Amino acid sequence: MTEPRLTVVIPMYNEEAVLPLLVARLRPVLDGLGRTYEVLAVDDGSRDDTAALVTLMRANWPQLRLVRLRRNSGHQAALTAGLHRSRGDYVVTIDADLQDPPEVIAQMLDLAEERDLDIVYGVRGDRASDTAFKRGTAGLYYRLMRSIVGKKMPYGAGDFRMLSRAMVDALRGLPEQTPVYRLLVPWLGFPSGEVTYVREKRAAGTSKYPLGKMIKLTVDSVISFTAAPLRLAIWLGAVGALACVIAAVKVLWAYWQGAVVPGWTSLSLVVLFLGACQLICLGLLGEYVGRIYQGIQGRPAYFIGSDSLTDAAEPDEPD
Ligand code: UDP
Ligand code: MG
Repeated sequence: MTEPRLTVVIPMYNEEAVLPLLVARLRPVLDGLGRTYEVLAVDDGSRDDTAALVTLMRANWPQLRLVRLRRNSGHQAALTAGLHRSRGDYVVTIDADLQDPPEVIAQMLDLAEERDLDIVYGVRGDRASDTAFKRGTAGLYYRLMRSIVGKKMPYGAGDFRMLSRAMVDALRGLPEQTPVYRLLVPWLGFPSGEVTYVREKRAAGTSKYPLGKMIKLTVDSVISFTAAPLRLAIWLGAVGALACVIAAVKVLWAYWQGAVVPGWTSLSLVVLFLGACQLICLGLLGEYVGRIYQGIQGRPAYFIGSDSLTDAAEPDEPD
């Protein structure tokens, strides 16, 4: 089979409710592109009938392929599985829940081809459909991330984006254990453009990104890109040490003055303060040591199930 012009990668975790709606809206857009395409549904270890539904739909939509991860490995790992198995000259990653309108894919492809771009970001112009909490935490996230990777990362650019084959190959070449594409993509510095769109409401089902997963994404983003927290630990340690010296001088001074009972409160405050500092530093060190450990183990981010339905002969494990 010849390589398609476009690959659409869709990570799915328990998305059986939204799948029929997604296909009904996505297929006409892709058929109307006038280019060859393939759709890679990456089932991220769903416990519902997502995979069975995709298998059914594949019967009358030959461009649809299914990649099954054996267990829930997370959104970014599902994206990795999809990117690694994509064959198109351009690859677009899109959420399954129709929050990213499939119609925008046509605009992205036109822009990429016209201006020979390697990245086209989908930028959320309006997030009114998201909850105030989601908007608030997302605002903080983008501010923090832009301070880490710089202004090349557009505000509101999520995982709805189009990448060229060269860009996908460059991403594959990175030895990342926990890739965070929102940061890696702008960081590589390929020519990029933007398409602004209105973020819609989830078409069906519930969010698969609870607070725990949001926090994990933020921690992964920071730790994988900067050692600044380690420097913060050093500063905290320095301040703690200074406070310790001052306290020691005071205690000695009181001793020489003959003051017999130094305050128990101040003593316990010092102990507590130092304890806190040590714990923070230990926690930060632990994060990094953990990453080193993971790196040495070299565990793949996901395992592909043998029941994946794809056309081409492909390796069973990620390279
Ligand atoms: N997703 C996934 N694995 C996960 C969590 C989410 O593949 O562990 C997929 C999910 O099916 C959806 C996309 O990632 O296609 C974004 O998730 P969701 O729409 O629930 O996130 P939100 O829009 O609420 O941030
Ligand atoms: Mg969503």
